[in-house]
Amino acid sequence: MQKNSLKLRIAHLYPDLLNIYGDMGNIVALEKRLRWRGIEVETTKITSGTTIKADDYDLFFAGGGQDNQQILAANELIKNGVELIRAARAGKPMLVICGSYQLFGKYYITLDGKKLRGISILDVTTKAADTRFIGNVTATCDFLPIRTIVGFENHSGLTYLGEKAEPLFKIKVGNGNNGVDKTEGARFNNVFGTYLHGPILPKNPHFCDYLIELALNNKYDCKIPLMPLNDEIEFYAHESRICAKY
Ligand code: GLN
Repeated sequence: MQKNSLKLRIAHLYPDLLNIYGDMGNIVALEKRLRWRGIEVETTKITSGTTIKADDYDLFFAGGGQDNQQILAANELIKNGVELIRAARAGKPMLVICGSYQLFGKYYITLDGKKLRGISILDVTTKAADTRFIGNVTATCDFLPIRTIVGFENHSGLTYLGEKAEPLFKIKVGNGNNGVDKTEGARFNNVFGTYLHGPILPKNPHFCDYLIELALNNKYDCKIPLMPLNDEIEFYAHESRICAKY
């Protein structure tokens, strides 16, 4: 157990719209890894029509969704854009996957040519193509103690990074943002956008803990070391998904 009484408040954005490929598992992983350490956690489902107050939450999560749901989610995000941008600038961690990653960028153009305006927290743009990238991904990164990241991608959007976005991961096996430049996802401050479902956090516990640490450090304004957990099963899952070609 951690010594102090600590608490994180998670905002789960639009689970009524953005909820495919098991992305909900990311919330479960965050909650479990907090509770196993004796850290209190409260998750609020932010459904359509809710007005978000950034100060009410310490960590934000949004999952993937198909184009029809994205159209509705885009409107909701725009309505709450100012508060979400305020939270991002304040260093609150946010993990946004696939459909929501696209909407945290500048825009997403669907296959039938509809332009969905994003909230521009990430300097990325996305346009749907007529082939889908589907499959397991192995990537690397330089900000985590264990450098490999595994996940599953399923998207037709091709995403390109602008000057202000840094790539989140580097593709070793798979397609990532656009199948060409070997980038996967994007980062701005503590906002992480990625195409990786899986869900990503249960099988990358090092990434899950990184988000938790960022949220705690940001909330309590000091470095709070996390108690280690027995991650034998989690890393078994992680390693079993590393693509043989890597
Ligand atoms: N509409 C998006 C795409 O296919 C998002 C899909 C998703 O969230 N998995 O690119």
